[in-house]
Amino acid sequence: METKSSASRSGLRALVPQLVILLLLGLAFGVVATTVEVNVSHQAGIVMELPDQAGAWVGDEIRYCTDPDCGKDWRVSELDDPAVCPACGAPLHSMSIPEADMLPDDTDMLKKEYLHPNGDRVFVSIVLSGRDRASIHRPQACLSGQGNSFEREVVIPVPLAGRPDLEVMVLDMVTVLRRPNQQDLRLPRYYAYWFVGKDRETPYHGQRMLYMGLDRVLRSVAHRWAYISVSGMRDPARPDAHFDEIREVLALIYPAMVRPDA
Ligand SMILES: [Zn+2]
Repeated sequence: METKSSASRSGLRALVPQLVILLLLGLAFGVVATTVEVNVSHQAGIVMELPDQAGAWVGDEIRYCTDPDCGKDWRVSELDDPAVCPACGAPLHSMSIPEADMLPDDTDMLKKEYLHPNGDRVFVSIVLSGRDRASIHRPQACLSGQGNSFEREVVIPVPLAGRPDLEVMVLDMVTVLRRPNQQDLRLPRYYAYWFVGKDRETPYHGQRMLYMGLDRVLRSVAHRWAYISVSGMRDPARPDAHFDEIREVLALIYPAMVRPDA
């Protein structure tokens, strides 16, 4: 009579051929996904456009000085020449120095600050990958390095005109600001994002990586992926109130990002 452990051992042995096949398929997929000749396309799933006016919100582009000794950031509305730092004369760039250090040179970025007459302030950014499609990282990894801790991670539907709901990942964070000789300042913030490739859209970084691999293997294409974020303050006493702000802002700015041929 077979003992329980030998029965489970023989059950495992019966699984070995399937496991080997899975392993080989995985290896083959990995080799093809990283080595196959693909048609690197400059097509992206969106356009790099954010409106200056979105309902009652007024948008202003943010640009950064490239001289590390200066390092100031500016709103384009306060600049005579949007390409030159008025403080030091160095060129201005669409990303901060730490961002430029982290991302490949051909990455494009556009950032705007939106102010509401009621004093609310929201930041929107679009990051568009260049030739290196993997240059867009898991946002949590970058954010946790900047003194943020996470309290909740939830995907919400965002209703948009003329298309199915957009799924957006929302991170509830606390940003800790250290102050000399004073108590740390703990700011409750949110950071919402999703990824867009050509004909692809997902709030999950893992799913984006899978889409990239599938497009390389099955369609032999590597499109440019974009990563769009909306961030602002949240009220811990009203745990879901910022979802309404995200939905309102996205419904207003999304039409500007839609590709004309989409
Ligand atoms: Zn400067």
